[in-house]
Amino acid sequence: AKERGRNNLELFAPVMTRQVSDRLLLEGRLREALKRGEFELYYQPQYDFAHNRLTDCEALIRWNSPEGMVMPDTFIPLAEETGLIVPIGAWVLQEACRQGEAWNRVSVEPLSVAVNVSAVQFRPALVSEVQAALDETGFDACLLVLEVTESVLMSDIEGSVQLLQELRELGVRVALDDFGTGYASLAYLKRFVLDKLKIDRAFIMGIPDDKDDVAITSSIIDIARNLNIMTVAEGVETEAHCAFLRKAGCNLAQGYYFDKPLPAEEFMRRLQ
Ligand code: C2E
Ligand code: CA
Ligand code: CA
Ligand code: CA
Repeated sequence: AKERGRNNLELFAPVMTRQVSDRLLLEGRLREALKRGEFELYYQPQYDFAHNRLTDCEALIRWNSPEGMVMPDTFIPLAEETGLIVPIGAWVLQEACRQGEAWNRVSVEPLSVAVNVSAVQFRPALVSEVQAALDETGFDACLLVLEVTESVLMSDIEGSVQLLQELRELGVRVALDDFGTGYASLAYLKRFVLDKLKIDRAFIMGIPDDKDDVAITSSIIDIARNLNIMTVAEGVETEAHCAFLRKAGCNLAQGYYFDKPLPAEEFMRRLQ
């Protein structure tokens, strides 16, 4: 067979278009990356509208590969397919809790840290993984937020209700990520006991000109408020987004208008 050049463009192409041999190569590289400590968490601040304060953040994984930084959309899908997301996800939990504990030791106001949980991780063993991360780091459970998506919960509704309950018994909080993009019906907001709803960037983008996006976003905020669930707007990029969300009663904002995801050291400077 003709030898194909393996430049990193090819290796880091989307999972779907990649050759079988490239997928195997990438899988091996991901396994090595975990062993060698090439993953890093960036933290994106979330600002509280009521007090204009940085109160929360979301941990987002990056891969410092020898060829440069690789973004999660490039490797998380393959990590999920191969099951590598389980050890990677456990590392993310540990690292986010370790960092969160370190920050909370020096910060006057409590800071919550949110971690993304993949569908593959969302199974009964997640409870002991979360417990282990909390025990080993001493991080306060109520400051840890687990972000799950609608499709994760909807694939097994009874199982999800049970698992969410066990997780909340540990004292951690749960956020529904990318809200409005999946197929969860509003009725499930009652069955799944949730602490936060993250309004998907797709709706925020249309504010204030798109009447549908405006209507959907205000409705989500109203329903959440009535159910005692906090709202987080993602992808807040402009002053107009902010003005609208503040007026609509959204609780927290996350997006480039404030900050991009930041390396831990830079995030620390924002905290001070
Ligand atoms: P997500 O959970 O929806 O995370 C939000 C994504 O939007 C992040 O992309 C963030 O950098 C980006 N973002 C934030 N503010 C803005 C904005 O104002 N405008 C725009 N256009 N984008 C904004 P990122 O870091 O590339 O992560 C992509 C996805 O990868 C995440 O989407 C999440 O699904 C997944 N992911 C990231 N870290 C982890 C992880 O540790 N574990 C798992 N399982 N998935 C992760
Ligand atoms: Ca998220
Ligand atoms: Ca999201
Ligand atoms: Ca998203």
